[in-house]
Amino acid sequence: MVVTPPARPDAIRRHNLALMLGEIHRNGALTRAELTQRLGVSRSTIGALVTDLSDLGLVQEVVPTGGERAGRPSHVVAPNADGPYVLAIDLEVTHLTAAAVGIGGIVLARHVIIWKESPPTPAQAAQAVRTCAAAVQRGAGRSDGPVAVGISVPGTVSRHSGTIHVAPNLEWRDVPLRDLVGRRIPAPVAVGNDADLSVLTEHVRGSARGCDDVVYLIGRIGVGAGLIVNGSPLRGAAGHAGEIGHNVIDVTGPPCHCGNRGCLETFVGDAALLAAAGEKEAPTDENVRAVLDAAEAADPRALTAVRTVAGRLGQGIAELVNTVDPQRVILGGSLSRVLAIAEPEIRASLVRFTFAGHTDVVLMQPLYPTDATLLGAAEIAFEQLLRDPLSAR
Ligand SMILES: [Zn+2]
Repeated sequence: MVVTPPARPDAIRRHNLALMLGEIHRNGALTRAELTQRLGVSRSTIGALVTDLSDLGLVQEVVPTGGERAGRPSHVVAPNADGPYVLAIDLEVTHLTAAAVGIGGIVLARHVIIWKESPPTPAQAAQAVRTCAAAVQRGAGRSDGPVAVGISVPGTVSRHSGTIHVAPNLEWRDVPLRDLVGRRIPAPVAVGNDADLSVLTEHVRGSARGCDDVVYLIGRIGVGAGLIVNGSPLRGAAGHAGEIGHNVIDVTGPPCHCGNRGCLETFVGDAALLAAAGEKEAPTDENVRAVLDAAEAADPRALTAVRTVAGRLGQGIAELVNTVDPQRVILGGSLSRVLAIAEPEIRASLVRFTFAGHTDVVLMQPLYPTDATLLGAAEIAFEQLLRDPLSAR
């Protein structure tokens, strides 16, 4: 008679493997002693788990180089650079950035495609993802393909279906992007909103590490927020949470492309900054940078424009503070430089509009100002492997 063994020890092993891989993925190389302390299990259990993860090709034990400490160097358990990798995609209006990303968030190879006609159609974007998969595989010198694909898009994403509901600047509506890419690449595909993925990266390995209540407010042409509440991403019932750019902060304000008037985006988006500075050019990165540079050099007109944006930004942050009470608010995109130039104006407005005038919220710049979306796309692609490292078999 065959007796089925109880499931419990196997479930514990899976759980511990996931814990250990998660620690190494978030922190990079750790000694066995550090892992013993972090996981709270015995040294012999750590030894068995390291063997398992090594056999799965996920980690490797190495002697760190470049240390100056005397004596016998202790081995560290590090992500295996030759282990499984994911394809991370940052889809933007003007171009697409792709990367092969290994465990630990290590970028192994990159590839950029600039759209001949902007914005791209969904089919063009999906085809470009396939082209990038081949390019980064070559660039990383790998014979294997990615174990999963993660895609960042500037739009609202239904988390269940991977369908983009609205991406205004791509001019897309109801695009089943996960399925379009899935038909072209033999790997699971996950799709996420750019602000949600930015906050994820900063939470896992950036300015918001160890902080369970954080908002990442990103300002470019559009304005959106990614939120982590109680240590978990806040996505909302349909995955549309964080569209703070379309919170109306002044009903008599300028018209917004969404059909309302006076949305936050119409006061703090890149177009608003240029308009406040009296510039009539398109809100390209270059033109926005010129105004911010001028403000930094104390040009009176540019400085007044940045301070005006800062005041409205403080009002927008106050809405977030009153709603979710974050410890930190990270300001990304052009808002990052607005913070550097005009933090006093943001603070004054924040205090004015926060309930009872009191908040300890810390305003910060991101640690990954350019790669947060790309690394966040890698995070959602790695989710399955991190949840169950045995799925690497
Ligand atoms: Zn709007």
